[in-house]
Amino acid sequence: MRFLILLCVLGCSLPGEKPSVSVPSKVPSQPSEQMIFFGVLEGLYRDGVSTEAASSIAALDPGSGIPLNFVYNCPLCMPALDAFRVYLERPDFLGKKAGSNTFGGGLDASTLERVLSGDRETRLEALHGLVQGWVETRLGSLDLTRGERTAWGRQLARLREKGNALLAEYQEQEEGPYVEFYSDWKRCAVCDGSSDAGEWEDPQ
Ligand SMILES: [Zn+2]
Repeated sequence: MRFLILLCVLGCSLPGEKPSVSVPSKVPSQPSEQMIFFGVLEGLYRDGVSTEAASSIAALDPGSGIPLNFVYNCPLCMPALDAFRVYLERPDFLGKKAGSNTFGGGLDASTLERVLSGDRETRLEALHGLVQGWVETRLGSLDLTRGERTAWGRQLARLREKGNALLAEYQEQEEGPYVEFYSDWKRCAVCDGSSDAGEWEDPQ
């Protein structure tokens, strides 16, 4: 007995055995970049967003080359935009009827109309809602503990602050394409959607 107690003091492992490794938390095991990327990609496939709608959201400003609906270099916007770009390159499913390459039936008429709108704020509002839903679904699928869920909420709120700080930085530039493009943006849609998805009421 005394021998066993001594072994436990020494790390609860027998000589020559590897010490037990603690199970890593799900937050660091899936970096935020991947969580947003996979959440958006999954959402695009699951909703079966049309190529027309996806390419309209992911379009670049023809003059400056800046993404029309995203804050360039924002830590939440870039993985979301990359997911759209990957989705747009998707191949057809093998062995299914011709042209089958996604799962859902497409966005509902009202969301589609807003996504394709010529008015930027209308488009950003629609993108905010889509990203929020997709990220909520992703977080819900990760089987997180309450602590991990809270940590994700904090992490997404922090990244939203970074995105908004970047937007403010662009707007403060003296000249150049960024200040011209972002001068009257009020917010980042992907940051707002992701951060709202991270907000969570602990049921207890
Ligand atoms: Zn952003």
